[in-house]
Amino acid sequence: MGKRAGKRAGRRLLAGLGALCLLALATGGPEPALPVDGVLPEGMEAAPTPTPAQGGLLALTFDDGPRRSTTTALLDGLAERGVKATFFLVGGRVANGMEDLVERMDAEGHQIGIHTYDHVALTGLNRADFDAQVGRTRRLLTGILGHDGFALRPPYGQIDAGVRANAGSPLILWSVDPEDWDTDDAQKVARHLVSHARDGDILLLHDIFPSSVEAALLAVDQLHQRGFYFVTVDELLAQRHIQPEPGKSYRCAYP
Ligand SMILES: [Zn+2]
Repeated sequence: MGKRAGKRAGRRLLAGLGALCLLALATGGPEPALPVDGVLPEGMEAAPTPTPAQGGLLALTFDDGPRRSTTTALLDGLAERGVKATFFLVGGRVANGMEDLVERMDAEGHQIGIHTYDHVALTGLNRADFDAQVGRTRRLLTGILGHDGFALRPPYGQIDAGVRANAGSPLILWSVDPEDWDTDDAQKVARHLVSHARDGDILLLHDIFPSSVEAALLAVDQLHQRGFYFVTVDELLAQRHIQPEPGKSYRCAYP
């Protein structure tokens, strides 16, 4: 949550993937290779290949929810488009009457992960305090869904040795961040996603803002035209033969 919310292959290949992802992050991501698609006038069909074929797999991820109004609108939009996403949930929000939304996400094929109970940084926490944030949320979600296997996204992407040791699940970061929490301009956020997305990226958004939901759906429609498919984080890693391990972090899964 930002200001506005209150505001596979061997070990060698895996290491190489990690380096590529880190490089992409350090340089702010690859430069836009293509112009941004314009919005087609109503009733007009897209040209068969409006831009050179690109495409690939992307994982759309949403943090900080659920929120009744915006998460429902997002789930409706994703269902209309047959898109699967990954939701990193705040336990305190789930426990506050949002259990049905979590059941809906799970039933509709989305991946569910943990984003702590109170949206706090996990770095520096002792074992008990870490459990009160992550273990508690894991137990809550398991109680609602009857299964486990929830990846962890640490708030603010902050990780230290303690977080790695206590995580008990893979740490999922991201490779494209349009900073959607800092603007209500959905077109701008969508443009950032469309111009930066490349095969294997993990995209970061927040489903607690109406503009972020609008941006996500705009970007999905434009990226579909460019031949991208949306999969869950687990599916993306599996497609790239990466077996996520507890306490290890993953930013992307480039081919
Ligand atoms: Zn967050």
